[in-house]
Amino acid sequence: MTNKEPKPQNPYLCMASVDELTRFAKESGIESYRAKQIERWISKRWTVNPEEMTDLSKKAQAALRESFLCDSVKVENVFESADGARKLLLALHDGELIECAVIPANDGRMTFCLSTQVGCPVRCAFCSSGANGFTRNLDAGEIVEQFFAACRNIGSLPDNVVIMGIGEPLLNLDNLIAALERICDPDRVALAARRVTISTSGWTPGIKQLALHGRQWNLAVSLHAPDDKTRALLIPTKFRRDIRDILQACKMHREATTRLLTFEYVLLDSINDSVEQAVKLAKLAKEADAKINLIPYNKANGAFTRPSKETIKRFENALKAARAKVTIRVEKGADSSAACGQLRATVIKEKKSCSD
Ligand code: SAH
Ligand code: SF4
Repeated sequence: MTNKEPKPQNPYLCMASVDELTRFAKESGIESYRAKQIERWISKRWTVNPEEMTDLSKKAQAALRESFLCDSVKVENVFESADGARKLLLALHDGELIECAVIPANDGRMTFCLSTQVGCPVRCAFCSSGANGFTRNLDAGEIVEQFFAACRNIGSLPDNVVIMGIGEPLLNLDNLIAALERICDPDRVALAARRVTISTSGWTPGIKQLALHGRQWNLAVSLHAPDDKTRALLIPTKFRRDIRDILQACKMHREATTRLLTFEYVLLDSINDSVEQAVKLAKLAKEADAKINLIPYNKANGAFTRPSKETIKRFENALKAARAKVTIRVEKGADSSAACGQLRATVIKEKKSCSD
């Protein structure tokens, strides 16, 4: 099957429950113990390609392809940067591209950064992901296959998963929840919920829905400014919510899940990097009991620049002086287009200029 064909109607193999696999075996005239074998291939070896399930008969492999949508997400390219971070450029069944990052920490721990949409409707002014607008949501099966592709790439489960790739995860929440439930099911892939962090631009209806769902996934909110006026410059669309509403939704999430809250803050020169803004940010963080993660801007979309090292330090010190908990994101993957959506945006540009 090529990746240009229209989407078949079959359910994703990676989303099939063990009961569904058992039913499939029965209906296809295959021994029932094969269902468990297939389940092991999927959940423990992260493959949804029947031809790789080498202990299955050709008949069983063909039957799987007949009944399910198998390996719909293809690794189109892998970009590796000198610091060990890797980006997988992935092609979906309709030819759309997404990216997923595999990021090692200095202590050897691995983090996967996953995408949830093709493009992004929020269109933050500094971000490549929204630059070409929004194309479509990823299906739950596509999110899980993306995760599996990253597992195969490193040969193990990651230590952490962050939903910080392309897209606004809370605008595709039903699919994200289904995918994360699949990945976190203790009887199957068994990634601990506490190892997952969902990052949102502050979509409060989604934060509240996550709170009601109650699973112990961590929440990161991209605040980027301590006041609504500055924030409006950075998130110029109808998807921006007021900081007060965001704080209220975060409180609900904290009470329901007891999980950590992080405020992400992209530092942009002369926009949101003053000491006065740091003091205001520290106040908000304390009120919300949130840790602050400073992200020095990576050159991408829009007319922004990264503040100088001194300004970044001054901002960090002002936060610390106000007793806020703060970390600075260590850059990884700078030479494979570090910020979310940059790799995809570059590839789309290159493809366009090739076809011009
Ligand atoms: N849509 C979600 C998750 C994906 S973006 C969100 O906005 O939170 C993940 C993080 O990368 C966000 O905090 C976002 O603001 C940040 N980011 C996007 N473009 C960036 C850039 N050019 N430089 C630094 N950080 C960037
Ligand atoms: Fe979308 Fe997040 Fe990029 Fe904003 S920062 S455009 S919400 S992916």
